[in-house]
Amino acid sequence: MSKLDFDLVIIGGGPAGLAAGLYAARAKLNAILIEKMVPGGQILVTDWIENYPGFPEGISGADLVLKMTDQVRKFGLPIEGHEVLNVDFNQPIKKLQLNDKDLYAKSVIIATGASPRKLRIPGEDIFYGKGVSTCATCDGPFYKDGVVAAVGGGDTAVQESIFLTKFARKVYLIHRRDRLRAEAILQERALSNGKIEMLWDSVLKRIDGLTNVERISVENLKTGVTKNLKVDACFIWVGILPNTGFLKDAVALDQSGFVIVDSNMKTSAPGVFAAGDVRNTPLRQIVTAVGDAAIAAVSAEHYIEAVSR
Ligand code: NAP
Repeated sequence: MSKLDFDLVIIGGGPAGLAAGLYAARAKLNAILIEKMVPGGQILVTDWIENYPGFPEGISGADLVLKMTDQVRKFGLPIEGHEVLNVDFNQPIKKLQLNDKDLYAKSVIIATGASPRKLRIPGEDIFYGKGVSTCATCDGPFYKDGVVAAVGGGDTAVQESIFLTKFARKVYLIHRRDRLRAEAILQERALSNGKIEMLWDSVLKRIDGLTNVERISVENLKTGVTKNLKVDACFIWVGILPNTGFLKDAVALDQSGFVIVDSNMKTSAPGVFAAGDVRNTPLRQIVTAVGDAAIAAVSAEHYIEAVSR
């Protein structure tokens, strides 16, 4: 038999990974959670969360992560910082190649989440960190009384644009259609916010400046007119890409690269499960990520029991 380090390795420390860890620890599995940065995932950069039950006043992303991490640690789950570079799920004992060592486990839960998608326009990369950002919580306060642009029409763009109005005197919200995708309550708040100017049917064409962002070019798709706007920063929230690069072809992915699972969160590889934003799902919320994770952890527990008999 090959080397065996753990019954279960959970990859990723966002809400899905932490919730899977909670269930695994309470089931007394010999489990570990590995995370390449710090636990939290995308909610770490979410200013305020109002749709996670149990917090009627809302809670900051950072506080919710802290509470989830404390809860997991209380039940004794080890959390270590490593990056998974490669996996081999072809044998009963799965091998994970980390940046500093290899790990062997009977079962794996993939909870690596997703990252912001890029627009791939001139200026986006060179001004990243110099006015181009995907994190309002991190960078919004730098633009007190400034003018900023935000791109996108989903929950992230709309919610974070509203947050930006706490600092900026004006936020241009650039959306490629004439209707927002974000949930109704966020739309209402954005459209009634005097500091947000909607640029409908418009796309960001380029970002310019000397050392920092100074202006953007925005094309109206209906009129074909391109206008230049002076802005101090440009926030880009045009969707997410799954963090599945390290999986190569180890499990089946859908056309957009999200991990395909069944209702028990089983992937195409026996003993390998996926939960949260990284999986193909009709809804990406904290509440659905933790729900997925509970199912994935219990499925992993059943799998480990069956192969250990
Ligand atoms: P999203 O829901 O996929 O929305 C992406 C937005 O970017 C859409 O409005 C889309 O336009 C636009 N877009 C995509 N590609 C573009 C391009 N090349 N040029 C211009 N615009 C482009 O992504 P998200 O807002 O990042 O949210 C990701 C997931 O997290 C979603 O499931 C969301 O519900 C969830 N989330 C939830 C909350 C919350 O509950 N409060 C907060 C944040 C995120 P179209 O509308 O025309 O397609």
